[in-house]
Amino acid sequence: MSKVYLIGAGPGDEKLITLKGFEILKKADVIVYDRLANPSFLEYKKDDANLYYVGKQSSNHYKTQDEINDIICECAKEGKIVARLKGGDPYVFGRGAEEAKYLLDRGIDFEVIPGITSAIGGLAYAGIPITHRDYSSSFHVFTGHFKDDDRALDYESIVKLNGTLVFLMGMKNLLKITSNLIQAGKNKDTKVAIINWATRTFQKTVTGTLETIEDVVIKNNMTSPSLIVVGDVVNLRKELNFFESKLLFNQNILVTRARKQASKLSSMIKEYGGNPIEIPAIKIEPIIKDNKELEASINKLNEYSHIIFTSVNGVKIFMDYIFMIGKDIRCLSNMKFCVIGKATKKELEKYHINADIMPKNYVAEDVIEEVKKHINSDSKILMPRAKEARTIIKDELEKLCQIDEVKIYKTIKDNVDKQNVKELLKNKKIDYITFASSSTVKNFVDLIDGEIDLINDSKIISIGPITSDTIKNSNLNLYKEAEEYTIDGVFSTIINDL
Ligand code: SAH
Repeated sequence: MSKVYLIGAGPGDEKLITLKGFEILKKADVIVYDRLANPSFLEYKKDDANLYYVGKQSSNHYKTQDEINDIICECAKEGKIVARLKGGDPYVFGRGAEEAKYLLDRGIDFEVIPGITSAIGGLAYAGIPITHRDYSSSFHVFTGHFKDDDRALDYESIVKLNGTLVFLMGMKNLLKITSNLIQAGKNKDTKVAIINWATRTFQKTVTGTLETIEDVVIKNNMTSPSLIVVGDVVNLRKELNFFESKLLFNQNILVTRARKQASKLSSMIKEYGGNPIEIPAIKIEPIIKDNKELEASINKLNEYSHIIFTSVNGVKIFMDYIFMIGKDIRCLSNMKFCVIGKATKKELEKYHINADIMPKNYVAEDVIEEVKKHINSDSKILMPRAKEARTIIKDELEKLCQIDEVKIYKTIKDNVDKQNVKELLKNKKIDYITFASSSTVKNFVDLIDGEIDLINDSKIISIGPITSDTIKNSNLNLYKEAEEYTIDGVFSTIINDL
């Protein structure tokens, strides 16, 4: 059954969408979105969902409203589920009601999923409560931009209101708004706040008074989309500013891990108010098809006494392969399991297997020492691992017993637009760059065509000694190495640095 959902995406922080909106987003065949909706929502789409970006930058519409309506209608007529994702709440400006009426007139089934409007939620993230018993007992939301320029606001009536005044789409007319308010009798010293990209990790807020705010805005280069807030509640920002006072607020942190692995570090950064920028320098590609080594080892699984996993990817790809070919964990019951790193141990536990051997430190030399204690000349070890991993573990253990290495995945370059990355590095101050493996370092340097000057001012954090060596060998300045060689360790290194 086709249906169009007008979904309020919330003010920007992707977690501020409703559960209902999120569920529809995940099952929609078509997603129509504009610039106010956080693009990270798109990560949750179905693999084969069609995406339509319909711009909308107040006077610089990427698609006209008629074109947007047509796209939505055409898709609905094809029997699809359409998610029309709109910033904030769909019925607070932004022409949501017009879209609904258009659908109704054409007999297309639709539903509205309300969202948190920027006019309330955006203020909260800047530490400004829209009401407070002592300062404001009502609030009023206006558009600062009119379809018809002659239809101005009735300032005489507005100044009689004692509540908080919020203007949306008002940046082009800011001076007009503030001077009209003063002229109509509002005190020129009334507090004003401007909040740009509210609730996003790059939110920026400035404050002033009705008289001074225009200068403050020019000086700070504040642009659209911004909220204009007028009223005494702005004063409460000094105390209630929970978001901008988070530890990592205003910190741009590059996450260079493979796309699928980046999310853990990125969400920790976001939780602390930072801005994670994912540049997946690498991509993990399983080597499963026609892998003779793998087939041979699977055929003699019962001969192995030990299995060594050196990475999360190794566990995941190997275990999934076992299940894919119709076996289950009983086929590994004669083996002792050795894992390198806490994350690898945890991954194995997902398959209900506890590790038997876990070296304290996660470098190859320590692994060899630890494993040595558990084997003898009759032992036979299986080690599924990355194609490009170092051979030292195999070389050393081979002196003591039989060891079969099976290359089950490789790290390759991801399809990242080089030019975009270089532009980003030129235009944005990057505070930290995180590297979680040697291959990400190498591929990242390749990605920027060896122009390492682009990242001279950023602090480079490495996950451990091997990665640090690669950083130094690539002529990059290593700032710090994580004390614990894990992603949590990388994160703590940044937190402790502040
Ligand atoms: N339906 C939306 C408003 C759409 S009108 C809502 O409920 O929030 C577009 C205007 O909303 C922008 O020009 C800007 O004034 C405001 N706006 C929306 N999201 C914003 C954000 N994250 N930060 C600042 N202003 C925002």
